[in-house]
Amino acid sequence: MIALNGNVINIKYPIVGIVTTTPVNLLIRHKRILVSTNIDTVVFGYACCITSQTITSRSNGALVHSVSNLELLNDGDIVLITPEGRINIMFQSGHDDHTVFITNRCNSRCIMCPQPPSDDPPDLYDINEKVLSLIKKESLKYIGITGGEPTVVLDQLTQTLSYLNNHFPDTFISLLTNGRRFQDFDVARQVVAAENKKLLFCIPIYADNDVQHDGIVGIKGAFQDTIQGIYNLYRLRRRIEIRIVVVRQNFTRIVALSEFIYRNLPFVAHIAFMGMEYTGKAEQHLEDLWIDPREFSQQLYEAVWLLHLRNMNVSIYNIPLCLLEKPLWGFARDSISRWKKNYLDQCTYCSVKARCCGIFETSCMQSTWISPQSNGCQHNK
Ligand code: SF4
Repeated sequence: MIALNGNVINIKYPIVGIVTTTPVNLLIRHKRILVSTNIDTVVFGYACCITSQTITSRSNGALVHSVSNLELLNDGDIVLITPEGRINIMFQSGHDDHTVFITNRCNSRCIMCPQPPSDDPPDLYDINEKVLSLIKKESLKYIGITGGEPTVVLDQLTQTLSYLNNHFPDTFISLLTNGRRFQDFDVARQVVAAENKKLLFCIPIYADNDVQHDGIVGIKGAFQDTIQGIYNLYRLRRRIEIRIVVVRQNFTRIVALSEFIYRNLPFVAHIAFMGMEYTGKAEQHLEDLWIDPREFSQQLYEAVWLLHLRNMNVSIYNIPLCLLEKPLWGFARDSISRWKKNYLDQCTYCSVKARCCGIFETSCMQSTWISPQSNGCQHNK
């Protein structure tokens, strides 16, 4: 999420609004946040004003001043302004996707968690709903619900799903969950009852056995919970995607995991092998986790083709094309969120840049094998 910082005047509660860089009619100002380098005081009627200028005089309305990088705020962006002076861009205008961070809490302790668990602000649900209420329905194609672990806040999750059902009936929705709470059939039933059968449940499995999976997740019994949860969702005829993040601790098991999925979970809609974003806890455990994708290219090749040849729907996320065997390029997806995605200098003249996912800008480690591809070149040796 892109964020800016400034100094606040008269902001005691979070403010959500739509950015405008030009003055608007008085009647609609209460939902708008005026952004300008030229204002030196609060302009009447806006939810808030944001300026790069430093304001020392007293004002009667909400204002954030001394904000640098104002050019990052565009007309139509939806922002959250906190009493601490943080400006989070919750939705970028012109984009057709939106992520709902429903909680920071989690019931697992994954060794590579990019966003370690913490308590939620009390108004998180209200903020999410306010943001959604300001997005034009027709502009949104995808909504991802994520956390933390969304099922930990079951009431907020079912409320959010109901809200999305009512307001975004045609939007594709995915739920990123560890699946553990679905081992309780009643929980699975509650969540399923709140959605409209379009929801894709995206659930990670890290190994074909409980010892390795539980070791990565940090909870004994997690593998058993997740597999039972997947079966319960299948009993309720829901669509499930299995996500396999490949790290040093599991790369030797991914072929066996493909076999496990084919034998035990043949009903899943999609399987995604994923490159790792080395940030958060993953950065702290780099020695245990880091592996260059080129080191597991043979295992990935076997794991993907094992599923593909058995008519299972399989993809690769977050691994640049130059790190993949060429026969895997057709499985690679442009999967990294826009605000995390970047390319290195050497990508500038790469012939496949337009179809490559690029790299996680947020990752503290990058492969040393990234190198531009020329037409007809298989990959670098
Ligand atoms: S050089 Fe850059 S653009 Fe080309 S495949 Fe590698 S990461 Fe992608």
